[in-house]
Amino acid sequence: MSDSATPTVDAAELTVRNPASGELVGTVAVSTPDEVAAAAAALRAAQPRWASISASGRKQWLLKLQDWVLDHADELADSIQDESGKPRVEAEVEVAFTVDLLGYYARNAAKFLADTAVSPHTPLMRIKKLTTTYTPYPVVGIITPWNFPLAMPTSDLVPALAAGAAVLLKPSEVTPLTPLVLARGWAEIGAPPVFTVVSGSGATGAAVVDNADFVQFTGSGNTGRRIAVACAERTRPYSLEMGGKDPAIVLADADLDRAVNGITFGALTNAGQLCVSVERVYVEAAVYDEFVDKLVAHVETLRLGRDDRSGNIDVGPLANQAQLDIVTRHVDDALARGARALTGGKATGEGNFFEPTVLVDVDHSMSCITEETFGPTIPVIKVADENEAIRLANDSEYGLSASVWTGNKSRGQKIARRLTVGAVNINDATINLFNFALPHGGWGQSGTGYRFGGVDGVRKYCRKQAITAPALPTQKSELVWYPYS
Ligand code: NAD
Repeated sequence: MSDSATPTVDAAELTVRNPASGELVGTVAVSTPDEVAAAAAALRAAQPRWASISASGRKQWLLKLQDWVLDHADELADSIQDESGKPRVEAEVEVAFTVDLLGYYARNAAKFLADTAVSPHTPLMRIKKLTTTYTPYPVVGIITPWNFPLAMPTSDLVPALAAGAAVLLKPSEVTPLTPLVLARGWAEIGAPPVFTVVSGSGATGAAVVDNADFVQFTGSGNTGRRIAVACAERTRPYSLEMGGKDPAIVLADADLDRAVNGITFGALTNAGQLCVSVERVYVEAAVYDEFVDKLVAHVETLRLGRDDRSGNIDVGPLANQAQLDIVTRHVDDALARGARALTGGKATGEGNFFEPTVLVDVDHSMSCITEETFGPTIPVIKVADENEAIRLANDSEYGLSASVWTGNKSRGQKIARRLTVGAVNINDATINLFNFALPHGGWGQSGTGYRFGGVDGVRKYCRKQAITAPALPTQKSELVWYPYS
């Protein structure tokens, strides 16, 4: 099971440091449980009006926020970089993701939330008009991790607002600043007061669970299970998006250059701190040596370090010392038990940087294979054939996403259907999150209830209601009303 890298101490103030430089970048007052309750009450009071302006009314506010984000793209990217230390391009991608997501749900929410006419299940019931409607939860509590300071919060905030819910957002205590910039934007465009950010760590998150009508959580398995218990005790609906241990399968007929590029990006983007990061690679024996040689050569071209905002690096730091400790423990365990690092293999000794690492001679009992690493490591395992690759890929408690690299499209499609994960990329890496029309979410210990994207992404924030009425205005009696005959 993945460790949580987030400190659990609840102080009166959060101190935020750039993990690339150690510089202090800001402080934020922690919201007390009473303040969280008051924020939820204010949201609950404002939400009915937000719901009543309908999806097309809300569309105008989402598009105004989109304009505001575009106008403040540099400020948002600076803030993301300051609190995460990630490369400039990756910070800008978060902003672009948010702009695109706002446009997608602004354009499509009305269609997704329209009443659904349902056909009766038997000709006898044709006397009925059946309809499903979607009513937003009053207050949605959203609790997010630190790996994408803007994109993680907006992934859930945007569809929840589009659905007509009010949002109480509790971002990670490690990266609390960027969501506050976004909340400032919501206020500056003059939008209704249906989006509030509360700050703090576990106790603040627990207060959100206490006060929300629906809880959307993204983070570690340990915290997710705790939230599930708290919600069960309150009969409160929830949805969990947790860790991953995503496999990549490289078959002998693959375009190896594309596979090497895609897997390197999939494993090392955001320094591997990505739920859908490639964390295990299974390569068919016939191309194993060639693949490994190309992989090591490519990884060694990457620039590790601190971005000066010019886009001068490819791989940034880990979020904090706790995350660095997890990655170091996994790599040390592998090396101590016979694995070899063909490149990298250790922390640089400065700040929170860990060298991009390719591990070989890895077996399936090592922690770098059984636990989520969330770091810049690529363990590679040689397999005899596709069946062994599929068996090992499925040998995990996680089931978030996977990739298959093959020159044969129908073979890729068939293998995808045998993988026990929520999303599969064929000859692609990590891209499914950017395809908003697809329902993204994990199986097994990777999550439950959660689907980001498409119609599921917005209806998740609504309660379904079933409405039955006579199909004909002239209908006076029913099949089994009194008197019985
Ligand atoms: P974490 O579980 O430590 O924290 C996540 C959030 O939960 C934080 O905001 C934290 O303050 C809050 N929290 C902690 N205790 C709480 C409690 N008792 N009640 C309510 N809230 C509480 O996770 P993290 O270290 O911030 O993030 C890393 C993890 O997130 C990794 O496991 C990663 O795989 C996962 N993640 C998953 C996805 C996905 O889409 N599947 C995306 C990003 C990150």
